[in-house]
Amino acid sequence: MTQTTTEPAALGIDLGGTKIALALVDTGGRVLAQRRLDTEADAGPEAALDAMIAQARELIAEGRAPVAAVGVGAAGQVDRLRGILRSSPNLPRWRDVPLGRRLSDALGRPVAITNDGSAIALAEQAHGAGRGHDDVVVLFVGTGVGGGVIGGGRLLDGAHGYGGEIGHTTLVADGRPCSCRNRGCLEAYVGGWAIAERAREAAGRWREAGERLLRAAGEAEGGGAFGRITAATVGRAAGAGDPLARELVDETGRLLGHGLVSLIHAFNPRRVVVGGGVIDGMTELLSIAERVAREHVMEVFLDDLEIVPAALGAEAGVVGAARLAIRTEAA
Ligand SMILES: [Zn+2]
Repeated sequence: MTQTTTEPAALGIDLGGTKIALALVDTGGRVLAQRRLDTEADAGPEAALDAMIAQARELIAEGRAPVAAVGVGAAGQVDRLRGILRSSPNLPRWRDVPLGRRLSDALGRPVAITNDGSAIALAEQAHGAGRGHDDVVVLFVGTGVGGGVIGGGRLLDGAHGYGGEIGHTTLVADGRPCSCRNRGCLEAYVGGWAIAERAREAAGRWREAGERLLRAAGEAEGGGAFGRITAATVGRAAGAGDPLARELVDETGRLLGHGLVSLIHAFNPRRVVVGGGVIDGMTELLSIAERVAREHVMEVFLDDLEIVPAALGAEAGVVGAARLAIRTEAA
């Protein structure tokens, strides 16, 4: 990528549990240049912040576009007003990190911060599968389940910015333990880690039916195959016609569909955008979920509702972070 422009751009930063992505993004959502580095969660926030700032300075110095503002989508609970990452399930050493102040001091530009799911939601609504609509729910099903809600064209993230944790809405009262402190969350059933757990349990319970799943997880390599069953294993085995894996995909799709019913009733979206690695790895999942959602949602909500796959892929995080920066600057 060697584009150069005089149009102002924003620097978007996607701070994840394993990777940090930085990109120079123009107002049309196009990535002009980008960098990636490992988060190295064990090294703690200071080392990662230093590395992040160094990469950001290089991107700005390259001069492909004047950088008006910086946006961050961070994998955790972000105090939007104070610019502080309060906590992060995947980055246990990051507690109350003043990301906003550190970045604005180092880069000399205004910095806006949000949760990574909210960043993806902003990106999909502005430049992806939600484009052209002001009321969009974006659900991202990866290892965890995140997303965000755009209502009336605005990100609905609550009093402090913690809102939009739609993966942690309760699907089953006192259900399966979640990665948060609740039980029975949507994530605790359809998140990649939860699908893997449910698959291991099923393979243990129905040993004969679970044989193919175990083989797909590499039992041939000897021992411990239960621990190697992942959501991806389930998706592959289902694709190959394994009945137990297909049953797991069907059950996951139905659970996801019931989760969508709550979101549709709560927010009356025009479009529901669903993406993430789990969706990509299980081809039938979204169509099963959509069928269940359409069966259970109040009819008036169905008038012009569309449930569509996400469009932006892995770049959504940085594009959304940049979008947040541009919007905050313009506000
Ligand atoms: Zn939860």
